Amino acid sequence: SLKHSLLATAGETKNFDDVKYRNEETRKRILVTGGAGFVGSHLVDKLMRDGHEVIALDNYFTGRRKNVEHWIGHPNFELVHHDVVMPYFVEVDQIYHLASPASPPHYMYNPVKTIKTNTLGTINMLGLAKRVKATVLLASTSEIYGDPEVHPQPETYWGHVNTIGPRSCYDEGKRVAESLMVAYNKQEKVNIRIARIFNTFGSRMHMNDGRVVSNFIIQAIQGKPITIYGNGEQTRSFQYVDDLVDGLIALMNSNYSMPVNLGNPEEYTIKQFAEVIRDLVESKSEIVMKDAVEDDPKQRKPNITVAAQKIGWKPKISMRDGLMKTIDYFRDEIQKNKKRSIR
Ligand code: NAD
Ligand code: UDP
Repeated sequence: SLKHSLLATAGETKNFDDVKYRNEETRKRILVTGGAGFVGSHLVDKLMRDGHEVIALDNYFTGRRKNVEHWIGHPNFELVHHDVVMPYFVEVDQIYHLASPASPPHYMYNPVKTIKTNTLGTINMLGLAKRVKATVLLASTSEIYGDPEVHPQPETYWGHVNTIGPRSCYDEGKRVAESLMVAYNKQEKVNIRIARIFNTFGSRMHMNDGRVVSNFIIQAIQGKPITIYGNGEQTRSFQYVDDLVDGLIALMNSNYSMPVNLGNPEEYTIKQFAEVIRDLVESKSEIVMKDAVEDDPKQRKPNITVAAQKIGWKPKISMRDGLMKTIDYFRDEIQKNKKRSIR
């Protein structure tokens, strides 16, 4: 550990001291696809600190080595550059399958690739799980509910998705992914977990992510206009990434194989959300309305009764507390980028 704590990258001293020790019996080998992404890297942190062996696999489409570089050199950690559309062979106990672009501008950039990632990628991970008898957890999404006509959304709601709209590559891709999970479970007896994740935010979101949280925070910090798409009456419910990571781990280690919503039911209109962020940043940005985007869901809020009953999970961090941490993160990033551009 002394050797490791002396290793330094990019001016940051590594500290592996808070990693729990586990013996062979309780230590698991865990694959995290999309492990260099926003959610994936936070999940990797928690699994590593808990003493497991972690393989983070990523093609770096939206993820970055920087998100996990603090683990490089640790004997329990491996970072693999690979695309899940191609088969991958490894021996593991658990697979968290997160690889897929998640932000609308990212998944719309190459819709064909988004569909391939969510279908072929999921088949490859299920094939792997079948061969090595691993449990596989799919990062599904609230987008499978489409523009919901039931509010809040319980897992029993079948959804309202436009098969030919701009979001369909992602929404339908995830819907097929869920179908694949269920089919492999029924036919091949693969152990499955399905997490339907609602809007999540926190540190390590990409600066150009394009999702509302990063857009609004960066606009507010820089004193630029905060851009609302449409009239701002559409609603979302936002959860902080640490809560999500706890939920994913609780679900994986439960014995529940039906879909589970993971989200924070605190619901806001996008207009209210813009005002909250402007206040927290103490910004003078004006709030402006832009054209609405096509097929934008009008309302979204999870019913999280199943999570409470089946996996004993509920979110602990309020939106405001999460936003304060996230604002600090983006302030820091913007500062670092400025320094880099001066150099
Ligand atoms: P992200 O874009 O930060 O992470 C996705 C990661 O997957 C990136 O590191 C990316 O490079 C990698 N990836 C993409 N295609 C790949 C491929 N073909 N092969 C290998 N790696 C690939 O997004 P995120 O917010 O961390 O999302 C993670 C997962 O959670 C996604 O599956 C997403 O659909 C799901 N999800 C996220 C949210 C949210 O609000 N963040 C909501 C619902 C669902
Ligand atoms: N949105 C907005 N301004 C932005 C980015 C997003 O008003 O700069 C809106 C978007 O139209 C949607 C909501 O914020 O109604 C959430 O968008 P996001 O892309 O974060 O996630 P979604 O839930 O739509 O996948």
